[in-house]
Amino acid sequence: MDNEKLALLGGPKTIASPFRRYNPIGKEELDAAQSVIESGVLSKFIGAWNEDFYGGPKVKEFERQCEHYFGVKHAVTVNSWTSGLIAAVGAIGIEPGDEVIVSPWTMCASATAILCWNAIPVFADIEPDTFCLDPASVEANITPYTKAIMAVDIFGHSANMDALLDIADRHGLKVISDTAQAPGAFYKGKYAGTLAHVGGYSLNYHKHIHTGEGGILVTDDDEIAERLRLIRNHAEAVVAGKGVADLSNMVGYNFRLGEIECAIGIEQLKKLQGYVASRQKAAEKLSAGLQGLKGLRTPVVEPDCTHAYYVYPMVLDVDTVPRARIIEALAAEGVTGLAAGYANLHLLPMYQKKIAYGSKGFPWTSDICHRNVSYEKGICPVAEHLHESSYIGFAMCMHELTDEDVALIVKSFRKVWQNLESLV
Ligand SMILES: *Cc1c(COP(=O)(O)O)cnc(C)c1O
Repeated sequence: MDNEKLALLGGPKTIASPFRRYNPIGKEELDAAQSVIESGVLSKFIGAWNEDFYGGPKVKEFERQCEHYFGVKHAVTVNSWTSGLIAAVGAIGIEPGDEVIVSPWTMCASATAILCWNAIPVFADIEPDTFCLDPASVEANITPYTKAIMAVDIFGHSANMDALLDIADRHGLKVISDTAQAPGAFYKGKYAGTLAHVGGYSLNYHKHIHTGEGGILVTDDDEIAERLRLIRNHAEAVVAGKGVADLSNMVGYNFRLGEIECAIGIEQLKKLQGYVASRQKAAEKLSAGLQGLKGLRTPVVEPDCTHAYYVYPMVLDVDTVPRARIIEALAAEGVTGLAAGYANLHLLPMYQKKIAYGSKGFPWTSDICHRNVSYEKGICPVAEHLHESSYIGFAMCMHELTDEDVALIVKSFRKVWQNLESLV
């Protein structure tokens, strides 16, 4: 059976039917949404300084439950994690032109949240094992203008928080955790996202748990929490009534999450650990099954950490067959959801051309920008090499995998590896 011809070359396909679509939404969420609709109160927020400034009953209930769940002093809901990142950068006291060090290996919003306050994203390289910020590269990118580090817990594994917090401590920097892809993952006994000055999670449709769109900010800092809540809800209109002394970055938005979403979020939070556990189980079976395939590295989990497997990340080191050809062969066997490469944000046109606000290069060409920050190819060699030639991601987030599915994925990989020479 294993010596059968590859499906790509006309042989039989290993996986006959597509994997089941991941769907964490069920009856509990339906009932929760229905009761909010029946109440007629779909959002209770008011953008003025009164008792509803912090939202309605479901917003408050969901936030208190998130605080309890993640073990933090404050949870603040927002209408997307992009909104959450923007609020986080504004809340930590950024000045225009300040530099924030961020990973290039992430969803674009991690870096645009920095630009939103006219601060300057500086891309540091990543670690080849965890794909998260490399502390040595972060340290090498610090200048007198650096104000913060945006640590992204990519694919479901925490960044090296001990090292990053130590750097932040020594240089007087704030740390933001973008834990959109790693809710429920642990770093040394604490939930990923909770070790930074401010962190949080996405609740968009593709994430482990979701409310359609949404996000949760977490922090132990009272002042940051209050600034997050102000930025969420038209800060400029209420700072006088509330007696806010620090007006910096109090240009507010409407980042409010509705009552229906929060009612759904309450049910979703109860299911998070179960969904994370089932992905861990599938990933462990995959890793065991893929052992011994030459030139294929399965995911690395650092000591005292757990992986939430938004993506199951692999690294390829096969000289004879190009990555694209191997993915093509796996896809032909029925392994859907494989991606060649991920992101190199510094290579996006916006950074290459340095055009963000207007057409004249603001903020980079402005006086607020202290120096000529480089986004040239070559500044992040590890991320660039992984993206160009060696990284393969399997989107665990798209599928609900049974034991049989996992066995068939393993079988497909083994079949392709046994027939690599036929792909040359
Ligand atoms: C999904 C995601 C975001 C953005 O979250 P939204 O809720 O879609 O706005 C930001 N960063 C990372 C790493 C993500 O995966």
